[in-house]
Amino acid sequence: MEKPPAPEKPYQKFIESLRAQLNNQLPMLSTHDIEETFPWDCVKALAPWGVWGMIFPKKYGGLGLPHEIYVQALEEFGAACSSLALTAESHNSLCGNTILEFGTENQKLEYLPRMAQGEIMGAWALTEPNVGSDAKNIETTAVLKNGHWVLNGSKTFTTQGSVAGVYVIFAVTNPGAADQGISAFVAEPGKGLEIGKKEKKMGLRASDTAQLHLIDFKIPEHNLLGTLNRGFQAAMKILDAGRVAISGVSLGMARSAVEHAIASINAGRTKIPNLHQRHQESPGAGLTVDRKMISHCSSRLHAIRLLTLFAARLLDQKKAYSLYGSMAKLLSGELAMQTTTDMLDLIGLDGTRFQNHVSKLFRDAKLYQIGEGTSEIQGLIISRYLLSNPGLLRKPPET
Ligand SMILES: Cc1cc2nc3c(=O)[nH]c(=O)nc-3n(C[C@H](O)[C@H](O)[C@H](O)COP(=O)(O)OP(=O)(O)OC[C@H]3O[C@@H](n4cnc5c(N)ncnc54)[C@H](O)[C@@H]3O)c2cc1C
Repeated sequence: MEKPPAPEKPYQKFIESLRAQLNNQLPMLSTHDIEETFPWDCVKALAPWGVWGMIFPKKYGGLGLPHEIYVQALEEFGAACSSLALTAESHNSLCGNTILEFGTENQKLEYLPRMAQGEIMGAWALTEPNVGSDAKNIETTAVLKNGHWVLNGSKTFTTQGSVAGVYVIFAVTNPGAADQGISAFVAEPGKGLEIGKKEKKMGLRASDTAQLHLIDFKIPEHNLLGTLNRGFQAAMKILDAGRVAISGVSLGMARSAVEHAIASINAGRTKIPNLHQRHQESPGAGLTVDRKMISHCSSRLHAIRLLTLFAARLLDQKKAYSLYGSMAKLLSGELAMQTTTDMLDLIGLDGTRFQNHVSKLFRDAKLYQIGEGTSEIQGLIISRYLLSNPGLLRKPPET
């Protein structure tokens, strides 16, 4: 097996090697997507590349990558397989990062090294059947009884829900106190944590999504993650950083759609009348439909990538980044959706086939506009910032 390069500055070798390694996994990933199975084989194959602990410090077995590099790695995941990309992102940025940011030293040592090895996958359970965007209204409860927390309730759309070895779960610990009464917990599968329905989704079919039913699920008192009743604030902080990360995935999906459309056009497979012919007759002359679509999508891709990297750099520098993270999430989600739509128009019939890569990206892209905060919620966050401080419209400070 090819030896992974040590990820070190300027990280280009690491990104290139990761791209090659992800390409090696494509046949298996395609089968998993068709069969809706979790790609354990790919998880194991990629483990030596350190991708299951990309943002964990080295002392916990991670790569310790800055976010600016992490989003580039996630772009490669998004270009290769948006399902596996969601696994990588949610495992690192949601479950892993909550333990990293809010866990005790013991909790970090207990879970992060095993997560970094890909030995156990992480899941992050906030959303419930009755509560999505308005997370402060969750209904799952946790009650402390004889040195144990007892959790009751249901979670829905939990990524890695049925395959995880470690769960971060949010529950109400001070009923009636809304966002001041939620706590986070870390837990391993056990009696009382029952896996419910596995979702059959329109896209991201190789990403495991399941309901969880917590029925008198007993976990030790010391499994509280962070401060009691401050779990909502923890979740929002984690989602803030997650938005920057997930933007990398959407960028990769958009890039991959354009790459595939260009390959299709160059191979003469696209059936738009006169399109390929016009290329051959007068290369460089006139802005044909295909060239217009490709140039617009690619220009937007580059612009939104710069915005995403800017947000990631601010995050690395511990400066205020949330506004730019939400902007990146909003625009990269729209970019992936619009680009996959446009490239399908270009590709024509071939693109309507279920197994066509761009058709898969098109089905997957919609879910990235919903998960980890919908586009409307990003719009709400962005408008709140700007209405209270219009100065933010000016050029941001240098990083
Ligand atoms: C593929 C996938 C994976 C996921 N993985 C996870 C996971 O691992 N863990 C987890 O906890 N959750 C997960 N989710 C759930 C996801 O975070 C929620 O879907 C998201 O929070 C939105 O909630 P909702 O779908 O219930 O929509 P709702 O909150 O019910 O919203 C419905 C519609 O109303 C809009 N809306 C809501 N509030 C407002 C408002 N104030 N102003 C304007 N518009 C508003 C929304 O934008 C949306 O269009 C996942 C979702 C998907 C699609």
